[in-house]
Amino acid sequence: MHTVELPLDGLDRRLPAICLITGEVAGVGWRRVDLGWYPSWATWLLLPGLLPGAIAIALLARRATGELPFQPGAWWRWKVGQVLNALATVGWLAAVLFSFNRWLAGEWRLACAVAVAGLATFVGTLKLFVQGRIIVVLKITPTHVVLSIPSELAARALGGEPAVESQRLRAVAMKALRRDALATTGAPGGSSCATHAQTSATWCCGRCGSFFCEACAEHPSPAGKPVCAKCFGVR
Ligand SMILES: [Zn+2]
Ligand SMILES: [Zn+2]
Repeated sequence: MHTVELPLDGLDRRLPAICLITGEVAGVGWRRVDLGWYPSWATWLLLPGLLPGAIAIALLARRATGELPFQPGAWWRWKVGQVLNALATVGWLAAVLFSFNRWLAGEWRLACAVAVAGLATFVGTLKLFVQGRIIVVLKITPTHVVLSIPSELAARALGGEPAVESQRLRAVAMKALRRDALATTGAPGGSSCATHAQTSATWCCGRCGSFFCEACAEHPSPAGKPVCAKCFGVR
């Protein structure tokens, strides 16, 4: 999941039209969203009493409304995922309570069976219908809303931060490209570029071995030798 911070007064069609869930731009439409958030520590206020706690949470809660870009299918999967996420959580709590109750009654086989089935259903639901399909509101400040969204591409387009893991992955990929670029050699005379048949090739790619012209040359390190644009990931 990747983090984006959007101004509350900018949740509208001025945003880039890229689906927040899939990162696709084709067929994207604008959907009204009504996002809610309250600080997670506020849940503790429920302990002294349900009613005063609920009132305190209502006072601390913030809302953000506007329009956000989605592919129609992705938007529906998010909505379904949200509902199933809530149902799975309630179902898991019920399974825990029921199996604890049966355990006390001495029916430990039934207790274990219910606990295992409950956990399997819970995890299965999250994996199949929730993970990578929903948007999570991390925070709403007086001026901004902070969202956790599945698409790295959309996060970049919206000026957000991709998850640390994918940044690390890019660093590793870049290092491997630099290493392969060392193996790049000059193309033999008379050979032509694999992409531009009319242009003569200058290089032979250290990663894939194809011939490429100056226009196709991409440099993983500014002073070093190039790899072809395909291996660099720009074509
Ligand atoms: Zn190549
Ligand atoms: Zn070329």
